[in-house]
Amino acid sequence: MSRSVPNHGTQESLFGPEEKPAKHDGLFAEVAFDRSFEGSLNGPLTYIVPKELEKNVRIGQRVAAPLGRKNEEVGFLVGLKTEVTDRDYRKIIRIIDLEPLIDDHLLRLTEWMAEYYLCSWGQVLASVIPTGAANNSVPRGTWVYEALDGLYTENQKLTSAQIKIREVLRQATEPLSLKELLARSSVGSSPVDSLVKRGLVLKRQEAGNRPIEPLDTQPPQLTEDQQSVFRQILVLINQGGFKPILLRGVTGSGKTEVYLQAIQDILARGLQALVLVPEISLTPQTVARFQGRCGETAVLHSNLSPAERGRYWRRVASGEAGVAVGARSAIFAPARKLGLIIVDEEHEGSFKQENTPRYHARDVAVMRARMLDIPVILGSATPSLESWNNAQKGHYQLMEMTRRVLNLPMPKVDLIDLRYQPAPKGETRAISQPLAFGIQEALKANGQVLLLLNRRGWAPQVLCPKCGKVIHCQFCDVPMTYHRGENKLRCHHCAFSHNYEIKCEKCGTETLIFRGIGTERLVEELTAKFPGRVIRRMDSDTVRKPGTSQLIQDAFRKGMIDILVGTQMIAKGLDFPNVQLVGVIHADIGLQQPDFRAGERTFQLLAQVAGRAGRKEKNGRVLVQTYQPEHPSILLASKHDFLGFSKYELEHRKLLGYPPFQRMARIVVRGLVDQEAVDFADQIGRMARNAHVQEAQTDKSAFRVLGPAPAPIARIENHFRHHIQFQSDSPNLLHRILRRLGMVKPPTGRLEMVIDVDPQSIL
Ligand code: ADP
Ligand code: ZN
Repeated sequence: MSRSVPNHGTQESLFGPEEKPAKHDGLFAEVAFDRSFEGSLNGPLTYIVPKELEKNVRIGQRVAAPLGRKNEEVGFLVGLKTEVTDRDYRKIIRIIDLEPLIDDHLLRLTEWMAEYYLCSWGQVLASVIPTGAANNSVPRGTWVYEALDGLYTENQKLTSAQIKIREVLRQATEPLSLKELLARSSVGSSPVDSLVKRGLVLKRQEAGNRPIEPLDTQPPQLTEDQQSVFRQILVLINQGGFKPILLRGVTGSGKTEVYLQAIQDILARGLQALVLVPEISLTPQTVARFQGRCGETAVLHSNLSPAERGRYWRRVASGEAGVAVGARSAIFAPARKLGLIIVDEEHEGSFKQENTPRYHARDVAVMRARMLDIPVILGSATPSLESWNNAQKGHYQLMEMTRRVLNLPMPKVDLIDLRYQPAPKGETRAISQPLAFGIQEALKANGQVLLLLNRRGWAPQVLCPKCGKVIHCQFCDVPMTYHRGENKLRCHHCAFSHNYEIKCEKCGTETLIFRGIGTERLVEELTAKFPGRVIRRMDSDTVRKPGTSQLIQDAFRKGMIDILVGTQMIAKGLDFPNVQLVGVIHADIGLQQPDFRAGERTFQLLAQVAGRAGRKEKNGRVLVQTYQPEHPSILLASKHDFLGFSKYELEHRKLLGYPPFQRMARIVVRGLVDQEAVDFADQIGRMARNAHVQEAQTDKSAFRVLGPAPAPIARIENHFRHHIQFQSDSPNLLHRILRRLGMVKPPTGRLEMVIDVDPQSIL
């Protein structure tokens, strides 16, 4: 089998001059390596399959082969061909997996991704195939070790060997076997034992995937909306073929029930289904519901150990699990008989991966469905404008559910204009009087309160009142956030943190000012205002430990928490029946971002969080504090008016040539030396313009280069960042030009170029 491979490199240059590989007629393998796109190592390279391996090589296996100066590197076997050639090739050394890890369809999908997202095929494969997929991860029953956090106090003296062991375990992404642990920390086993005895390290047996009790739910009587949508979906399933569906269903309209019934239909046909959800809504309740109705369900999320992930991967591949549910990377679940793909909350930014390969799982889902010729359902209360535009143009079939289940009304949203609610002099406060009153009322009526503040920490800025200096990260061009619990200043863009010093480092002034309010400070204010109430916080600081997010959600659902404060993670897809009041502390935060999607994101966030109110009874209420009550994103979200918002925003985007009207890409050049980054970005910018002049002779599509310019965050982790933005009518033209730029090798190893196709963030 031979493939058309983009970007073949010049292989000759990879051979050491003294080597003279033998000529060969017989079987050749194409091997894709996890190497970057820059320069010449792009597509798969051809190798000789030695006679003794011919019987066992299969496409989709990993193999070891010499690469460049390295004697041996692991790559993916992506093609086999028989031919006679007089070219010189090197030989495959050995086969790593006897069984292929990936089938032909997923190979084609990853090949498309490499071309579309402009990275190497090997990079895509390496990121798509879980390390535990090969059946050689720690077997069930093996003793493994994990760090136990939170129990250690400074006065528990540890030996240096013990400290080292804890360090290794903390840094490990998975529980380690004793052998692995000792190898990594190069100590003997007795300090490990004493740590286990003292309760500072957890020793347990690898148990296999944690079972989730299936929840046996009887299908409810479908609402009219649900029934009509379900029928339309059945018609499309029966017709067969690639059928992209956009399901716009308001919050609480019962989209999940429609998914469940569609999946049951698919399973009855002997096929499999794949469901993508945002990470946070992957609750045990959701999974149990799927298990109860759809039988064995594989759950793929980021907190699985490689062994667990691998087991699920194989259950899906063998067909034992009929359904796979998961976050972004679940789109690659190796279902061999896939009949339906569902992407819930398709507008979610978290479906875009922000490192190579920079894919958008929703778009990959649509491509996967297209390659397999099957239906795909994109569901949301607030569809992305890309999907909405596709539906308007008839590329996607639009289905709508405009009413909530059980005849529940949409919750009433009131805007609180903060310009008329000044805080008492000298006081920083987050909660205005009307909001405080609303909270009081809801609590009095035994309801629960959900408060959204999309900013973690105690105060987002610390400044000196005398010289005006705001404390910035040493490595990034952003202010440090004060975290009171740990009394630390933290950078939210890199790992840098330091203990809080009361003195201004510039002028020595001893009283610094905290500016702004984060979730931590909000909890403090609430504790003072509502004594005796249980108030908890859910943001990426409090849910860092796997499982914590579940604990908080469960406690809230059971009524053990009165007020739950959180960042955007509390806005997504959660179903808490007893929420009587949803409060938004500062609706304008996101609008300040220099990103053309800021308005869309704000609208989505507000509409989604408002949708958490009144999901069981008719008295759900939403109070939104804002300085810009007349801003369309805020005003229209308060009226649950998606149609009005999309109309307004699309007109705006059309004028400026932004997506969905034009395609966009972005190149970021990063470097330790600013001038080098500037020069390289200039060079790329010039090349882009020249490339366009040439392309324009045959392709007259609109094309625009913006920049180079310093990125909105001009320095992250000590790397200076300059970006160039591209917009075009024609995705093909855009790709041809980007492909040329992608081949440019940075002049020094200190520079890096990142290409982002369909960028979600342009900071
Ligand atoms: P959405 O995802 O559209 O916001 P959900 O799927 O979470 O809505 O459903 C909201 C709630 O309504 C859930 O608790 C669900 O169990 C319930 N529900 C769904 N369909 C029905 C129905 N036909 N009758 C009664 N309750 C339903
Ligand atoms: Zn930083």
